[in-house]
This record gives sequence, C-alpha cells and structure tokens, in this order.
Amino acid sequence: MNILILGSGGREHSLAWAVLQNPKCDRLIVAPGNAGINAIAECATLDIMDPGAVMTFAEEEAIDFVIVGPEAPLAAGVADRLREAGILTFGPSAAAAQLEASKSFTKEICDVANAPTAAYGHFTDAAAARDYVAAQGAPIVIKADGLAAGKGVIIAETVAEAHAAIDDMFGGAFGGAGAEVVIEEFMEGEEASLFVLCDGANILSIGSAQDHKRVGEGDTGPNTGGMGAYSPAPVLTPEIEALAMDRIVRPCVEEMARRGTPFQGVLYAGLMIKDGQPRLVEYNVRFGDPECQVLMMRLGAQAFDLMHAAAEGRLDSAQVNWADDHALTVVMAAEGYPGDYAKGSVIGGLEACPADSFNMVFHAGTAAKDGKITASGGRVLNVTARGATLREAADRAYGMVDRIDWPEGFCRRDIGWRAL
Ligand code: AMP
Repeated sequence: MNILILGSGGREHSLAWAVLQNPKCDRLIVAPGNAGINAIAECATLDIMDPGAVMTFAEEEAIDFVIVGPEAPLAAGVADRLREAGILTFGPSAAAAQLEASKSFTKEICDVANAPTAAYGHFTDAAAARDYVAAQGAPIVIKADGLAAGKGVIIAETVAEAHAAIDDMFGGAFGGAGAEVVIEEFMEGEEASLFVLCDGANILSIGSAQDHKRVGEGDTGPNTGGMGAYSPAPVLTPEIEALAMDRIVRPCVEEMARRGTPFQGVLYAGLMIKDGQPRLVEYNVRFGDPECQVLMMRLGAQAFDLMHAAAEGRLDSAQVNWADDHALTVVMAAEGYPGDYAKGSVIGGLEACPADSFNMVFHAGTAAKDGKITASGGRVLNVTARGATLREAADRAYGMVDRIDWPEGFCRRDIGWRAL
C-alpha cells in the first residue's frame, strides 16, 4: 500500500516508524515531515490544512491510506474530503472532531451518554459566567470552548482569579476559541490517558499513558506541550480501564453514531481517577504527542494493522498482541522553552544512539543543515525506549540522552517518577 501520514512532529515520526515495520507498506510519504522523518521516509511539502490540496496530492500519488496526525486538519475537514474522494483515511470527520474542537459539545455528549465528568456551566456572556463562579466558589476551572493549542484552560484558585480569567477570555485572549466559555468543577485525583481506536461502532483499547506537562522536575514550573510520557499508566488498572471503557468511551461513541456522526480514529480520553472511579477530563481526537511515541514503541508493526482495521470498520475482529512491556520517552527541548528559545543550534551524538525495536530517538522539531541536524522548535527530540520494566525503559532512554551532545538543550531527569 501507498501510505500518507500528515503532520511534522515526534508523533508523526513514531507513526512513520511503526508503519514502516509493516510489510503491507510499499511506499510512505509524510507531509510535511521533519529531518528525522526524512531519514526514514519521503517528505513532501503540502498545506495539510487545505482539504482540497491534500485530496489532490493523495490522488496524484496514488495513496491507498492516509493517517492524519494533528487535530487541526481533522477539524478543518481533511478526513471528510479524502473519504468523499474514496481514499481510506484514519481520523474522524469534522463533525466527530467536535469532541476535541468544542468543550461544550463534549460536555453535552457526556450529559446524554450519562458519562461521569465534572459538573459544568456553558456561557456566551461574561456577566452570567461571573455570577456562576460567585455561586460555585473556588477552586474552579475556566475553559475557552474552542481549540486553543492546549492553552485555553485556567485552574483558578480564587473567585477573583476566575473572574479575571473570564474577562480575559471574553476579551479575546484566545481569539474565537474564547467566545464561549465552559466553567467546570475542579476535580481532584490522578490523571491518566486512555487511547481507544474506534471504527464508528466498535472500540478497542490500545493502551494507557501518563505524561508530564510541567517544564520542571517534580512537576513544577509552567505548562508545556509535554516533557515526557510513559506507558502503561499503573493508575489505570484493568478494572478502572474497564470502567472507563464501559461508562465513558462506549456510551459517548454510541451517542456519536446515534447522531449520524460516527467517530472513526483514535479517541484519547483524558481521565481523572479518584477512589477507583474514572471521570472524563477531556477528549482529544488524535494521538497525544508525546504519548503516541510510547504507544508506537509498544505496538510496533501491528499499529498499522489496527489503524487500518479502524478505518475499514473491522475493529470487532481486531485485537492487540501485548508484549507485557513498558515504554518511556524523554523530551529534549531548547533552553528557554516554553518561553523564548533560540533555533538553529547543532545537535551531535545522534549517531551514537541505537535505533531498533527497543530504542529510538524520534525527532519533533529538527531541520537538516549542511549535513548536520539542528534544532528548529521548542520541543526537539523524543528519546524513547522500551523494556521489560519501566525502570529498564527509563535507563535505556536516559542512556541515550547522555550520548546526545546538545549544550543548548535540556530535559527533565525524572520522567516516570510517579510510577518508578
Ligand atoms: P484540558 O485541555 O481540558 O485537558 O485541560 C488541561 C488540563 O487542565 C488537564 O489535563 C487537567 O490537568 C486540568 N484540568 C482540566 N479540567 C479540569 C478539571 N475539571 N478539574 C481538574 N483539573 C482539570
């Protein structure tokens, strides 16, 4: 098969790496890709936010199957356009991608599906939102309704902070994403992510993960896109996972089908777990980055078969062959991230890192210049390893980190601490 992956981060590098291990892959193109992806697959220049351009490209290159990495092209209708043209695609329609693109939509689906989640109010004007917060008290969570690149959530410790956040959002701090606001009860507990393939009707868990959002060791400092992750998440025991599948994911997927907007792709459920009970924090409609990297490390070549089965509506007969393993990824970022950082510094030592089914350095933000790899983003490398235990995976990953010669970069040394 000729396969096209859309995206350019560490997530897409790990997807490409897994797909290439499957003998069904004859040719792989990644658009737009990055320097690491370019070393293993063809990269193409393409505006992946333009559904027509993606469709034309896929037809010209005789693509049999498209895997969409990020959420923005899904919300823009890229998967719809490809399927209209008869091209098999992994990823939800724009209508089903509302599960990530609109927080109030997800809350409404949870209401109808009776899925446990935080109590909430949905507001289109600041005065009513302020009154709601005054009545509920703090802590309380204020969320811009639309896509805000992971930045539209404020956990307010006081009513005054909540009021300031409401004024900011209605004042346009998040552009159109903040024209509507969801205000939620603050949930306590431990967070974990569950990844579930959906073919519109059937669902299949492909593993759990936990990530580290804060930039500093001990989970301190500002939020980031994610500084590391590991899989499986020990807090998601088989019993709690079964509860999450039966009470949260399955009823929501059934409600989407009932509405005539079935969900096909990967549903990433962010869960809050307390006293053995999971509640939904949010859905994402694509793989997490860097959670995808640890999932791909564990699934390997079968990841392609599973995504293909989801796209073809065959998940009822699919299953995961687990190796009883653990995977961990350490994000190496440019000094200064998530604030201002410099681009263009040279990264050495990559050739000293093994690249096999237990060790991979996935590239997130790199470029190739004069035969050298340089940093071209904030999060730059995802140093990923697998082992019989999480400790073994962590030791392998940090062993590679120590071989990488990049004085302008940094990483957290404590990824996995909660589970280790
Ligand atoms: P979201 O974009 O909705 O996932 O929110 C980002 C992060 O904010 C989550 O991963 C949680 O850590 C936190 N968060 C969101 N909603 C809540 C809530 N209702 N209670 C506690 N923490 C929350």
